[in-house]
Amino acid sequence: MLSQKEKTQIRAVLAEELRRLSKKGESALSYSMNHERNIGRDSIDESMEEELFSTEMRLHDREKFLLGKINKQLARLDNGSIDVCEDCGEPISFRRLLARPVTTLCIDCKEQSEREEAAIAQAGRGSGEAADLGESERGAGAGAEE
Ligand SMILES: [Zn+2]
Repeated sequence: MLSQKEKTQIRAVLAEELRRLSKKGESALSYSMNHERNIGRDSIDESMEEELFSTEMRLHDREKFLLGKINKQLARLDNGSIDVCEDCGEPISFRRLLARPVTTLCIDCKEQSEREEAAIAQAGRGSGEAADLGESERGAGAGAEE
């Protein structure tokens, strides 16, 4: 079980993630407005437009995904289950939660799922997309490594 103080710290980290995400959301929005204005411009050919557009969509998907995870963690924090591994029910360490506030797995389960992801990637299925969207320990997403 986490102490009240630890919970407060994790809530602050999650709030910070939310803030960062909404900032990204704003820049994506202004980009999308510029994008609309630029449609029909001769200097950008159609395939380029399409590529920009699909990149933008992926960005939104990732943001939505992260937002969902943060909201879920806030709920888990409220009902006192944030430090319980979703997979095996073992406690997740406070240190790990602080470093990976959106994680719902203990380190053992996480490592196992990463091994499974790697095996799938090696088998040639899955383009790494799933790993990219997941809360990868190396991901550039909602980590504290910056
Ligand atoms: Zn576990």
